[in-house]
Amino acid sequence: MEAAAQPQAARRRPHVVCLGGGFVAVYLVKALKRAVRRREIDLTIISRENFHTFHGFVPEMLGSRIQSGQVASPARRLFAPARFHNAEVEAIDLDRRIVTTSRDLDGRQFEVPYDHLVFGLGARDDLERYPGLAEHGLVLLGYADALRARNHVIGILEMADMEPDAEERARLLTVIVVGGNFGGVEVATELDDYLRSMAGREYPRLEPHEVRVVLVHPGEHILEELSVRQPRLQRWAQDFVTGRTGVELRLGRRVSAATPTEAVLDDGERIATRTIISSAGTAQSPLFDTLPFERDERGRIVTDPFVKIPDASNVWAGGDCAAVPHPRGGANPQLALYAMATGWRIGRNILRTVRGRPLQRYRFTELGDACSLGRRRAVAHIRGVGITGFPAWLAWRGLLLLFMPSVDRRLRLVLDWLVTPFVGRDVARLHLDEAMAVRREVYEAGQDIVTQGDIGRRLYVLQSGEAEVLRVNGEGAEEVLAHLGPGDHFGEISIFEGSRRTASIRATTRTQVLSLGRDAAQHLSAASQPIGAHLRHGPGNRDTTTEDGTP
Ligand SMILES: Cc1cc2nc3c(=O)[nH]c(=O)nc-3n(C[C@H](O)[C@H](O)[C@H](O)COP(=O)(O)OP(=O)(O)OC[C@H]3O[C@@H](n4cnc5c(N)ncnc54)[C@H](O)[C@@H]3O)c2cc1C
Repeated sequence: MEAAAQPQAARRRPHVVCLGGGFVAVYLVKALKRAVRRREIDLTIISRENFHTFHGFVPEMLGSRIQSGQVASPARRLFAPARFHNAEVEAIDLDRRIVTTSRDLDGRQFEVPYDHLVFGLGARDDLERYPGLAEHGLVLLGYADALRARNHVIGILEMADMEPDAEERARLLTVIVVGGNFGGVEVATELDDYLRSMAGREYPRLEPHEVRVVLVHPGEHILEELSVRQPRLQRWAQDFVTGRTGVELRLGRRVSAATPTEAVLDDGERIATRTIISSAGTAQSPLFDTLPFERDERGRIVTDPFVKIPDASNVWAGGDCAAVPHPRGGANPQLALYAMATGWRIGRNILRTVRGRPLQRYRFTELGDACSLGRRRAVAHIRGVGITGFPAWLAWRGLLLLFMPSVDRRLRLVLDWLVTPFVGRDVARLHLDEAMAVRREVYEAGQDIVTQGDIGRRLYVLQSGEAEVLRVNGEGAEEVLAHLGPGDHFGEISIFEGSRRTASIRATTRTQVLSLGRDAAQHLSAASQPIGAHLRHGPGNRDTTTEDGTP
């Protein structure tokens, strides 16, 4: 293991290390900038990405109002004069005061010693919330996730435009958004606006009315955060969404399963779709499971009113990963302004510790909230004053712009806003080559995993559940040829012989499969003679199948 390169004479000055390059880090740097320049302390920011992601603009990115790169500000410019360490945080040794990181290329490890440690790791999506979410849901927490979702959305327009089958076309044009919080509402309304405006314009064979965006939310209203303090705004927003956009609301409902072709709701409704975007529920870094800190019901690290972790020496936590006591009771919500305020307070309190002064309590309560509703409309309240419609939308954009941390991205955003109305929204799909990809997929009972006659692009290994092999006979009736269980694989004939699928495989229970792209399967087969022989053979020689084999 390598000791990471340290600032010169680092050990003579207190070394502050911040884990995570989000808003906590941005405001920590602001609070400590002068002390770093005066060489009173050293500051290192560690993050797995070398940019800061501004989540507030992700809905505009999905709706192609702005270019994708505008939400990502370069870390080195943003965090100067702090040092930046671009790596994954792997472990924390609280006794030795060492953070272990690993680099992306080959996992090589580094040790970073600290005197003060700040947790600003944000939150991550809880992909275990329902079966199939990890395999078929799109999430929006990281930049790569948002880019993948954007490309997927453009992909469905392309595929729907050339799809002759009405059922599949409807499935392609149906988008499910899970979670009626600020993020979910913004994403649903922005996508509804984008897809409808692209249909008929860029995609002349599609009609705007064919687009269906369904927002599924477990609560009685959307934007429940607003109901308590701004019930008028909440009602206005809900009336606008139901009356003026095409978004369908499913309130009091949850998604209970996701498959490649449908979302299953907890009341049994099945909605045919190729797109499920999840904006609800967050989980915490698995690193926290190795640490002795108290956690709240959401898994966040509990801090004291000084934003310090009790009973830990010089360890602090802020933003989405911390339950910081809100001055009016309860804990801070997981919102950007609170991450900024806690990052700032931690920085000031670290300085006070270094200078031997008493700590100050965290005091920030709120500035306001704003939620865009697509079609240049929003609801917003600033210091208790509520506004709706177009003025609120302007205020929403203005507020977000104000908090965009880097000046160059601010300028680029304004340019995009000025240019897009004239040149139109982008529909370039930055396709990522997934030929080698290995994926997990989930199917519900009755769903086809592969269909007879299709061109086979993937090889499947059944991990859990059961399926049957079916072939349509001369009279057009389906015959069951075999039953498959965990460990069986299928799809090899079309992968290795280049023919079409010779039978269908249908799940008879909830079934999880591992699927390998054709290139990956062929390389694996070529690399090892025994594996290749096994894969090519298929399950036809096992007693679960007939001699007909599988597709
Ligand atoms: C789609 C979406 C829309 C949102 N819209 C709004 C909005 O309109 N208004 C609002 O106030 N809030 C909004 N939020 C919430 C807001 O973005 C967060 O509250 C805020 O970003 C939290 O800041 P943070 O510094 O705590 O964490 P983050 O900004 O999430 O930063 C966490 C950092 O930790 C790094 N990291 C995590 N684990 C590791 C590791 N093991 N090793 C190295 N680095 C690691 C990440 O790369 C990242 O740099 C939205 C969130 C999402 C997902």
